[in-house]
Amino acid sequence: MRVNQGLILIEGQGSEPGAPARDLSARDLPRPMLEVAGRPFIEHVIAQLARFGVRDIVLVADHPKVRSRYDGARMFGADVSVLDAAGVNAERLEEICFIANGDVFFDADLLPLIHASRQPHWTASALLPKSGSTPGVYLARRDALLGTAQPGALGQAALARLVATPIHADGYFADIATPQGLHTAQAELAARRTRPTAFLDRDGTINVDRGWTHRAEDLVWIDNAPAAVRLLNRAGYYVVVVTNQGGVARGFYDEAAIDRLHEHMQSHLIAAGAHIDAFYHCPHHPEGVVKPFAIECLCRKPGIGMLEQAARDWPIERARSFMVGDRDGDMEAAAAFQIPGLRFDLQTQSLLDLISRQLAEKT
Ligand SMILES: [Mg+2]
Repeated sequence: MRVNQGLILIEGQGSEPGAPARDLSARDLPRPMLEVAGRPFIEHVIAQLARFGVRDIVLVADHPKVRSRYDGARMFGADVSVLDAAGVNAERLEEICFIANGDVFFDADLLPLIHASRQPHWTASALLPKSGSTPGVYLARRDALLGTAQPGALGQAALARLVATPIHADGYFADIATPQGLHTAQAELAARRTRPTAFLDRDGTINVDRGWTHRAEDLVWIDNAPAAVRLLNRAGYYVVVVTNQGGVARGFYDEAAIDRLHEHMQSHLIAAGAHIDAFYHCPHHPEGVVKPFAIECLCRKPGIGMLEQAARDWPIERARSFMVGDRDGDMEAAAAFQIPGLRFDLQTQSLLDLISRQLAEKT
């Protein structure tokens, strides 16, 4: 049930007629490239789509600085490419895709949009803040989206012609199209995106450990694991999987297989009204046989490289964060990262109860 693709429209090169005046140093950067909360604004928009399972992010932009910085990048688990508007055509687009405006960040749950797309005769929906009329993000069928624009002219003006069913949602909304909006986002966005984080081990914690699990058909959820993830989502936690996958170094499967399994897991979760914000895996093992991966590394738990990477990617509130795992290595990683480690034992515990109790204690 996952939606794989998201377009982000980037306009405004500082010279468009009627554009608000801004300082000279910013003049040759499109607004979404301006720094907000420690990174270019566009990266918050990319992260928001990636949290809900989008893996193919297309920035629709003419500006060479957008292309040089982002074309071919991998961020938040998603592949990013840059196209000019002429490149947005039926071949490049998937049948259903998200469309976001690069000036707008809406920190809302995107699952209602995805669920709406399963209705018969659905063509497009727009997610709006409860108190506003500017859409935060759209989900549309390819044909409906391309029907709004002349070939090569997909932009915000064309998007405004998209007939989309409105869905209202709670969530922090930032629009940097005006200097005041930019100023407000610079003041607020870092704090508004900061959340406690539940780091979850994978095999033996959210899915049954069958030994080198790497195929979708071998996935068996731990009882109530999707409900446990949903509970964390609703409590406002980032849910981040950190998993040792030494099977890559041992030559049993490759990283693409891990990505496919995680996409399958995400699809299941989305159907169940839940989502995992980010997946991190360690492909290394010192006794491996596959060349670049057969090393001692800093990411294999009990190392904390994956948790540290997550803390660079996501604004994490460490004080309320915790880790759940079924092995000593998980508990050692939690201790080294200075968060509580909850030991999960499939034989004697319910994952949902364990997480419910932790949330009750922290609120
Ligand atoms: Mg485990």
